[in-house]
Amino acid sequence: MTILPTYNMLLVPAADLYMRVSQYREVTGRSPEVDERVTMIVSREGAKNQTFTAESFYPIGLSGVIREVSGEGFLVIRAGNRVDIESIGVSPEGRLDLIVSRREEAADISEEEEARRAQAAREALYRFLADQPWGAAARAFLDRQSSLGELAAALSPWIESSNAERYAILAEDSRAARTALLEKFIYENLEMAKLSQEANSERQEDYQKLYRENAIRKQLEYLQRELDEMHPENVSDLRRLEIRIAESGMNETARKEADKVLSRLRQEGDHGAETGMLYNYLDFLTGLSWKKEEARPIDLSAAEAVLEEDHFGLKKVKDRIIQQIAVMNLRKQQSGSILLFVGAPGTGKTSIGQSIARALGREYVRVSLGGVRDEAEIRGHRRTYIGAMPGRIMDAIAKSGVSNPVMVLDEVDKLSVSYNGDPASALLEVLDPEQNSTFTDHYMNVPYDLSDVLFICTANSADTIPEPLLNRMEVIQFQGYTPLEKLEIARKHLLPKAMQAVGLTGDAITVTDEALSAVISDYTREAGVRGLKKRMDTLCRTAAVHLVRGEEHLEVTPESLREYLDMNPLRHRTVRRNTAPGIVTGLAWTPVGGEILYIETMFTPGSGKITVTGQLGDVMKESAQLAISLVRHMFPGSAAMFEKNDLHIHVPDGSTPKDGPSAGVTLTTAIASLVTGRTVPSVIAMTGEVSLRGGVNAIGGLPEKLMAAQRAGVERVFIPEDNLDDLRDVPEEVKAALTITPVKTVDEILTACGVTADGVVLKAV
Ligand code: ADP
Repeated sequence: MTILPTYNMLLVPAADLYMRVSQYREVTGRSPEVDERVTMIVSREGAKNQTFTAESFYPIGLSGVIREVSGEGFLVIRAGNRVDIESIGVSPEGRLDLIVSRREEAADISEEEEARRAQAAREALYRFLADQPWGAAARAFLDRQSSLGELAAALSPWIESSNAERYAILAEDSRAARTALLEKFIYENLEMAKLSQEANSERQEDYQKLYRENAIRKQLEYLQRELDEMHPENVSDLRRLEIRIAESGMNETARKEADKVLSRLRQEGDHGAETGMLYNYLDFLTGLSWKKEEARPIDLSAAEAVLEEDHFGLKKVKDRIIQQIAVMNLRKQQSGSILLFVGAPGTGKTSIGQSIARALGREYVRVSLGGVRDEAEIRGHRRTYIGAMPGRIMDAIAKSGVSNPVMVLDEVDKLSVSYNGDPASALLEVLDPEQNSTFTDHYMNVPYDLSDVLFICTANSADTIPEPLLNRMEVIQFQGYTPLEKLEIARKHLLPKAMQAVGLTGDAITVTDEALSAVISDYTREAGVRGLKKRMDTLCRTAAVHLVRGEEHLEVTPESLREYLDMNPLRHRTVRRNTAPGIVTGLAWTPVGGEILYIETMFTPGSGKITVTGQLGDVMKESAQLAISLVRHMFPGSAAMFEKNDLHIHVPDGSTPKDGPSAGVTLTTAIASLVTGRTVPSVIAMTGEVSLRGGVNAIGGLPEKLMAAQRAGVERVFIPEDNLDDLRDVPEEVKAALTITPVKTVDEILTACGVTADGVVLKAV
């Protein structure tokens, strides 16, 4: 049972009552819907938004049902019997509790007498209406009311009278006396209307307009409904939209806008210039889900099982996701902190987002932000634009069909700023829990509540994400996979999926572990598993062709890969066999994972000029300068060499831009090797930033770099001692394959590599 506090309403038993939707919201805090059992109770003061106490209400109420929530901002309540309020309780949160019993009345007037007096009142009203320009419509409306009570109730929304006066009518136990009171209500107000009409006040005009419009609309709606029922096949698009608007449950602002657009659409007709645009707008608006979904409790172990089932490894990531789900459970919320998954392509960032949706039993949508430069792509174009469309966020909400999807915002690091506004700041608004409950897409032009959407962002690197945006999110790193992990992923996930996609069964084909490992090492070069997935797909497609051609059982081995994959093995960047003084192996971090690189240096006769090539960024160029100064300082005997020669520093693979300070130790060692003529074996690699005094400082991306080193066949790696903590994130098999030496100064590296001048290493100061 719904308890409905009322004010300014005439409560008449057995009549249709019209309550404003806004009043309903005010007193209940909810949107109205059809409701079988309602008890209306009358507030004494009629004040708005007051805190109710048991004394706030009169002792008699009225039962009823909410029959319809009409388009015109009214709900129609069919009133039933009067009830005595036996007790009323108000909980501290303002919840009302009610015990009621039916209140009897004295049937001291005959039905004929009632009907006669109702007819007399009707005639008086009609006489008055006959002189009104809008009288016919009002009359049509009043035609549908039969009793005095119904007439009075239908008129009452446009009549001003006190709560006490209205309550007196409800409280009257004698039907005869109530009839008299109702007559008084009608006739008095009719006289008032006549008087004030003469005065023709502005307010009166407003009332008339409202009354008229309402009456016409009601009548139209009524006729239209009858027509629709007679010819369901002819229900017009407009009518359909109207029904969809009424049923969508949209908020009041949206409802007003929709009604406005609908009436413009009516005026435009079928062939108006704006018809299509208006139609699309309403179609979009009504296609959105305006319903709030309940926050359902989530079974943590079931969620864990789903995550485990979809993805191999990623332990830290899964742990963090489970924490998030637990917090959401506790707080009964549907969203929480915004997670940012950072890592190389193909490491599972997007697909784990999908898995989260599955674990939560919620819809999943993905929005790609790569290359978005225009604010309107996030927030939509205003409808005045030709070809205006909603932004990507609202578009995704529409696609999801719900108000609480899990939304993966892909590639937030690829947003760019242009003259068309800053998409990042629009995104900020989307993600800000303070603002996103009233997110307003320019196209929609009405607010939509995004606060239940669970946002997950992905990026290849956090470096290019604007600071304010980054501050809103919690970064979770996705490290690249080791060959062993890739083998497991291929075996357990990628291969079975690829087989399933082409209809292969385990009886038909065997892929050996050796073959899978060979695909990983020789046919892919990546930190993630995207390429591997493609190879698995190709392999299965080729296998399908073989089987259809009649081959029996297929076995895929490393030797047959070239044919199955229809490609040559990739040339891997492995450490070079030959090397010479001045060439040293370094380690680089790129958004797609780690790589080894070489620093090559050479003296040519000249006059001390320095040339740097290989698309180096400013920071790396500065590191080169620093390395030169450091070597000159450490090996004073080399001064003449630098003066009589030009020094050329080159970092091969010249087409890839490189930057960052982490090649400092490699540059220094390479130049020192050149100066001293001592060769550094290419199976030794190093990474670290160098200070002017020869100290070695921490660098980023150590796990990826070490994985690249192992892949390339490096045996020994020097790393900054300050990075020791990062070794925790390095897979065991990588650590086992490498001799990792932490150092504090570049001097230690030089000594260990035997780069000394005449056996004497000059100390860095
Ligand atoms: P990203 O978003 O990081 O670029 P994706 O989520 O698109 O990567 O992943 C690419 C493919 O690799 C998907 O098909 C995904 O299912 C698969 N994948 C990635 N990591 C794993 C994993 N740990 N276990 C199983 N499959 C994985």
